Amino acid sequence: MIKRIEELVVGNILFPLTSALYNRKGILPLYREFQKSEFYPPERLAEIQLKKLKDISKYAYQWIPFYRKRFTDAGMVPEDIQALKDIEHIPPVTRQDVIDHHHDMVDSRFTASALRADISGRGAGTPIPLAPFRKDRLVRNTSSGSTGAPTIFYEDGARTAMNWAHELRFRTWYEIPLGAREARMARVSVEYLKSSKDILLRRFLWNQLALPGVNLGEEDYLASYNSLKDFRPSVLWGFTSALTGLAGYIRDMGLDVEAVRPELIITWAAPMYEHEERLLREVFECHVTNIYGAREVGHIAALCPEGTMHINEENLLLEVEPEEPQNNNHVGEILTTTLDTTIMPFIRYRMGDVGKISRGSCACDRTLASIDDLLGRTGEIFVTQSGRMISPNFWCRTFMNPTLGGKIQRFQVVYRPGDTILIRIVKGNGFTQDIEDGLRNHLSNNFKGSVNARFEYFDEIKPQISGKYQMVVNEIEKENGSIGSDPGNS
Ligand SMILES: [Zn+2]
Repeated sequence: MIKRIEELVVGNILFPLTSALYNRKGILPLYREFQKSEFYPPERLAEIQLKKLKDISKYAYQWIPFYRKRFTDAGMVPEDIQALKDIEHIPPVTRQDVIDHHHDMVDSRFTASALRADISGRGAGTPIPLAPFRKDRLVRNTSSGSTGAPTIFYEDGARTAMNWAHELRFRTWYEIPLGAREARMARVSVEYLKSSKDILLRRFLWNQLALPGVNLGEEDYLASYNSLKDFRPSVLWGFTSALTGLAGYIRDMGLDVEAVRPELIITWAAPMYEHEERLLREVFECHVTNIYGAREVGHIAALCPEGTMHINEENLLLEVEPEEPQNNNHVGEILTTTLDTTIMPFIRYRMGDVGKISRGSCACDRTLASIDDLLGRTGEIFVTQSGRMISPNFWCRTFMNPTLGGKIQRFQVVYRPGDTILIRIVKGNGFTQDIEDGLRNHLSNNFKGSVNARFEYFDEIKPQISGKYQMVVNEIEKENGSIGSDPGNS
């Protein structure tokens, strides 16, 4: 009973109030609207999207120099957008465009604020207290690519409010009430947590416990486990890598899971591979979902309890880059358009993810279209000579196969020019030459002999600075000078 009252107070009063002071307005009204719109007939959703697309096109043309030039170069005016498919005439925006033109991509009435945000000295994405009452309320944020320069973008709180509303929506799919306790393995280190006042506010005003999510060692996992035992959150949220690290630690140490089991685990900021999902389900025995998104455009989609990755269609228009006009029913690069008027909208943003969009009926009855076959980043996918796409999940299935049971401690796949795939392996207990032979066979069956596989053995494979192990390294992409991207949100 006391828990329920606490949830009601946090969910309906404290959280919305403090969010509004960060200029993150309208979270609850948005959220309540989602409860209805996610069941609208597809035609009605399409109508909403078209109305918003027309509005955002007019807004962007009027106020944003970058898009005005885009429209003009394409020989278009916003009035040319009369149907959703007309968006195809606007050239896609790349990460390089954002790197080169971010100041021109902001509503020109806010350019001066953006320039001031550049020199404010605030950390990327740091919210601004009492923002609605300030003239300079723009938050400067960045999204770092795994290689190459980071993108810089600006927001006034509207995008973050939308993210929160989407998060509440996703939690409701799993019957988590507003204000329920949540622990987050965040993009912060142990040292930062010790010194931050913000963390205490989150704890008491938002029912949110912050845990470190990067550079984690065994003592950090143990400390996190103990904190979870005290706090008993309904939702455990974090980077896929941090959550699987914690799950592995709990399993290996034989700790009592019952004492920390949440009702829902939310992984984000990276795809959740099959073996990772399996590990989380096996250890925690609770619902597990994954949010797909990018910091620039916010939360795009999430897995419902039926395993469908539904798109937030009320706020985002997703396309698969057409190979031929009006054929959206194939696997290709995903383009995202933010439909709501914010000071830095993204129209046809190409983030480098490959997948397929479909609108089937889901057993959860939600009518929102879905992303199927999210194969991964363009750089992680290997295209064989016959045109078959090998996704990172293929490597997971290959190396995480239960029959190998610990004989391979770690692996990394490197795509090299000239159809060469280099397999780096750290041997586990019981590794024999037979295993390499078996893997060679498996690869030649799947690649039909079109690639040259080489095996190299190491004592260890080091993680990236973020603490994440890179499963696929694409040296072909690097040669072509393309830039990786990093999803996720604050
Ligand atoms: Zn569903």
